[in-house]
Amino acid sequence: MRITASLVGQFFRFRCNRQFIWESIPVSERGPAIPVGERPVAGELLREAGREWERRQLRRLIWRVGDDRVLHGGWDENGRARKLPYAQVVAALREPGELRFLLQPELQLPDPDAFARHWGLDPSRVAFATGQPDLLQIRRTSRGLRFRLIDIKASREAGLAHFAQVAFYTFLLEEICRAEGLPGRTDTRRARIWSRSGAELFDLRPYRHHLRRFFREELPALSGTAPAESAWHVDAGCTGCGFRAHCRAEANRTDDLARVPGITPLAKQVLQARGIHTVRDLAGALRRDTYTGCHALESQSLVLKQRAQALRYGKIFDVQRETHRMAASAADPILIVAERDPITRICFAVGMRRKGGRSATWLATDGTPEAEREMLCGWLAALGEQAFGAGIGVLVWDAAEWSALGEALDRHGRDPVLQRLLAPVLAVLAPGDDAPLTVLHDVVADLFALPIPYGYDLPSVSGCLQPSAAPHVHSASPDWQDVHRAWAGDATARSTLESALSSKLDGLHSVLRAVRERSERRGKLRQQPARPKAAIATEPLAHPELEALRVATRMESAAQSAWIRALHALPAEQRARRWECI
Ligand code: SF4
Repeated sequence: MRITASLVGQFFRFRCNRQFIWESIPVSERGPAIPVGERPVAGELLREAGREWERRQLRRLIWRVGDDRVLHGGWDENGRARKLPYAQVVAALREPGELRFLLQPELQLPDPDAFARHWGLDPSRVAFATGQPDLLQIRRTSRGLRFRLIDIKASREAGLAHFAQVAFYTFLLEEICRAEGLPGRTDTRRARIWSRSGAELFDLRPYRHHLRRFFREELPALSGTAPAESAWHVDAGCTGCGFRAHCRAEANRTDDLARVPGITPLAKQVLQARGIHTVRDLAGALRRDTYTGCHALESQSLVLKQRAQALRYGKIFDVQRETHRMAASAADPILIVAERDPITRICFAVGMRRKGGRSATWLATDGTPEAEREMLCGWLAALGEQAFGAGIGVLVWDAAEWSALGEALDRHGRDPVLQRLLAPVLAVLAPGDDAPLTVLHDVVADLFALPIPYGYDLPSVSGCLQPSAAPHVHSASPDWQDVHRAWAGDATARSTLESALSSKLDGLHSVLRAVRERSERRGKLRQQPARPKAAIATEPLAHPELEALRVATRMESAAQSAWIRALHALPAEQRARRWECI
């Protein structure tokens, strides 16, 4: 088992034993039972964009602090910093002179076996690989030299995996300082991640605490597990894992319990201990204690049972008698879709289905915040031209879509042009508690158990839950290659993207009609119609900061209000089972 910093980071991200164990085995030693793992083209495009961003950050640093203050190992033919060999790293840390930064320093444990034994690990099973953070900063403090680690990430914000990865580097550097007798100490309290949001200084201590536990308690067990025996569970968290296609195929073939949306890894373990290993077993389970033993099972026993039966028999089941997340209304809400880059979180496309059923889409001309701002302004201007009747609300597919829009508006919240365009339509986009936003995914999950494994995504739901007339199946989300080609000026890719967004809007509308057909007549849509409410200002506040705050608050409360209403409508017993209190 070969442990690298990025592997440790991935373990904190995926929390999957299989992913960790399989990835820890070098590809050449894996054997036929372990797949090589996929590297999708879209992911490669994102990685290349990330590398380009990293290159720019490093060049900017050198320009800012001066070439003589930064030690690096030169540049390769693609303009990337080469690694700084270990001997040079140690020499520079021993006598740093005026140096302030080392680029891509090689952190090589002088005695990896002793390091493994220090953590109670068997060196014949566990090997620690050389680490290579992006930057090592040499700080002169009143208490002597301090070596601080910095990693550069192209994502919008640093995540758990990034923090864990940097914390791992600190253990390597600490050991190097000790073994080489260096005159300074590793900064074990703080480190930095340079993300697109800025240079975040974060507290290392919680991550080092978890890593110590990981080394002492989890790693010994993981290193003693045969690859074929490692625990695994396919769910939404697998997005980005190279083994996803393999695990999905295996889960489908074995009718794994993970196919039931809502079954967690712990719930699966509890069920397996009771001899329930497949969806078929679960659908036929009659014991009264089947849905006990963990929160995930107890809090949604009826829903899980019906989802298992829906999968087993390929039928749609009605779950709840009613939902308070959607109103019965003759008027169509405004349907909105949004797409964002998963790494930079820049929103690059917005689509809207307006009154009268006409769809329109807006695409960013490139992946920059400025292009995002222009796109949002175009969309808000079009929204402002609509004449809205009373009770017209907004509908999105899922909360992530709304959060993508909210984040994008927040990013440009201080822009005066955007503020002027947003203020008149804020009453429609985020009217507040009286007419909450409708999140169609949650309505569907409230009302139906569908024969769809893993989770209810729009392409699957639009294929399964269809209205009697003119159903539309949305086939797939926009392709990343098309996004990049469109940014490079490819008109065909641009029109493909526009078609994908229009298809998404049609799919959303198709599911909306199906939900209404199946539920409205039976009085299942119980959200109360909008009450008269205090007028919302249609002019931005004079102070741009206050206006940005006003918008952010309204967008957030729009997202929360439907959920809070639904919570209020639940019987107290069900709220208690979900550990919710109002
Ligand atoms: S796809 Fe999911 S279950 Fe499979 S190895 Fe990756 S994280 Fe684990």
